[in-house]
Order: sequence, then C-alpha cells, then structure tokens
Amino acid sequence: MKKLISSVVGALSIFALSLSLTATAKSAEFFTIGTGGPTGVYFQTGNAICKMLHKSAISKEHGRKKGGDKAYRCTAPSTGGSNYNIGQIKEGEFQFGVAQSDWQYHAVNGSSKWEGKKYGNLRAVFSVHNEPFQIWASKKSKVKDFKGLKGKVVNIGNPGSGQRGTMEELMKAMGVNNSYFKSTTELTSSEQVKALCDGKIDAFGYSVGFPNGAMEQAATCAAKASPINLTGSEVKKLISGADYYAQAVIPKGTYSNQKKDATTFGVKATVVTSADVSDELVYLVTKAVFENFDDFKKQHPAFSFLSKKDMIKDGLSAPLHPGAIKYYKEAGLM
Ligand code: GLU
Repeated sequence: MKKLISSVVGALSIFALSLSLTATAKSAEFFTIGTGGPTGVYFQTGNAICKMLHKSAISKEHGRKKGGDKAYRCTAPSTGGSNYNIGQIKEGEFQFGVAQSDWQYHAVNGSSKWEGKKYGNLRAVFSVHNEPFQIWASKKSKVKDFKGLKGKVVNIGNPGSGQRGTMEELMKAMGVNNSYFKSTTELTSSEQVKALCDGKIDAFGYSVGFPNGAMEQAATCAAKASPINLTGSEVKKLISGADYYAQAVIPKGTYSNQKKDATTFGVKATVVTSADVSDELVYLVTKAVFENFDDFKKQHPAFSFLSKKDMIKDGLSAPLHPGAIKYYKEAGLM
C-alpha cells in the first residue's frame, strides 16, 4: 500500500513538473545578443543587458497573471565581433548585437566591407562606451608609431571582428597593405594578448573600451606592452572624413607602466537590432537598461562615463528602432 501511495505521489509530482515545464516553455521567449571575444567589453555589455532584463522580469513576476504576459530570456554568447554580429542579425540568427559605430554605418549604407551587401533593415537601439582604436606593441619591438610597424609581425584581427575592419581602414588611410609588415596573423581578441605576451607577435590592433583586464595583462606580462599614438595627417584625414570616428585618448596611468597619454582615433560601441524584431521586445530591452541605469553602469568600468542623453544619439547612423523610440518618448528623453 505504502509503495502504491508513493508511486501515485511520484506520478503526480512528475505530472506537476511537466505542467510547470510546459508553462515555462509556453511563456518564455528566448533571444540572443551577439557580443565579442570572452575577454573583451562586448561580452560584458551583452551579459549586462541580459542581467538587467532578467532583473526587471523577476521583479514583475508577482504582477504577472497566470498564463498572461510573455517572459523574455536572453543569452549573450561570445562571438567574432561587430561584423559577425550584424551578419547574424541579418540572417535572423541573433536578435541583437553589439557593433562598432563605423560598422553600423557601413552595413546600413552598403559601404566598405558591406559594399553590395547593404542591410537596410538594421536598426539602432542605443550606443554604449567609447572604443579607441589601439595598437599595442611590445616594449622589445620599439614600435612608437604606425610607421614603426614596418617589417613587424602584426595581428590584424579575425575576419568578422570590428577590429579587423577598422585596422584595414587605417591601413588604407596610411597607404599600405599586408606586405608592409613582416607577417600578419588573424588571431581573435583573446588569442592576441597571449601571443604578444609569448613574443609570437610584435603588435596588435584592437578597438575596445577601457580600462579592461585583457589590456592590463598585455601591459604587465613579459611583453610590457603599451598603446602607441596614432596621429598625423593621415589619421586626421580619416577622422574628418567620417562622423563615426572621433579623436580619442587613453589617459596615462590607465594601465600599469603607461606613462604617457595615448592619442588615437576611436568609435562608439553600439547596440543594434533588426526592423523585424518586435517593438515589444526592443522596448523591454531598452527600458530594462535605462531604468536600471546605475546598476548597468556598475557592470563594467568602461561604462562609468555613460550618459542617457548621449546614448540615444551618439554613434547611431541606422534609424532608431520604433520600440526604442517608444521608451525614449515615454521617459521624456526625446
Ligand atoms: N570592437 C571589437 C570588435 O567589434 C570588440 C571589442 C570587445 O569585444 O569589447 O571586434
């Protein structure tokens, strides 16, 4: 008898469990935010957005009627970076992505790497931190400026990364191609620091927010690397020819042993989506970040300078998604 009761209870609890699983499966909608390498700032950005969304979803859970509102849940996997993310949004594989302002511009206008592949349905949500384009060189390489890279082993970045695209734009502006260097590598952002520290490369080019742990590692490992200046008439021309570039400085002391400001040019990290993603989802994602703003800013030191006013206009060349506009108007930001 005892056995019978326990098996009935067991069967009932399995039934209850499967009911609750069905309820979860029915009410939750999963979506993906494309980021960058696991040691970069994009990975933290995507995951911070998910955290804010889940936080606001959980706080509303009590108010949700049984079988009522849909719950959204997101994941933010590490990826190849900006252009890969935009490509995956275009394919409908990702619903959001983090992308450099220059690649947002080129994708929506069909220029540079996006020539012939224009993605008119790309939509902007907001911009995030500044990303100075940085060339980090080992102390031993004695590279002090772009011309010093002649005959060196340089990581130009993995295809699909924003860093690769921006490095190629810089090379075009400087009038050089890969043969200017002794050799080039296509390492990812996480691999390049190890390669520099191990003496396998002399330098790498990377557009990334600061301060960040991976660059601190490059500064303090055996390479004792530092970011070089990228200035001069060619860089000036590059900046003046495009709204998505601006002069940028990594102040001295940002990293260990960094004795001088590094003056360069930079872009903005931006969050993008597709016109095909629902207004409801874009509205909820935007609202979750903006209504938990102090908490969001604490998720990475590169976010400490963020201001809501700048985030809804700086570095955005694709049209704003209507779901984001709905929130900005409601919040009195527009
Ligand atoms: N800006 C880089 C890229 O698009 C990624 C930087 C990061 O991961 O923080 O490739």
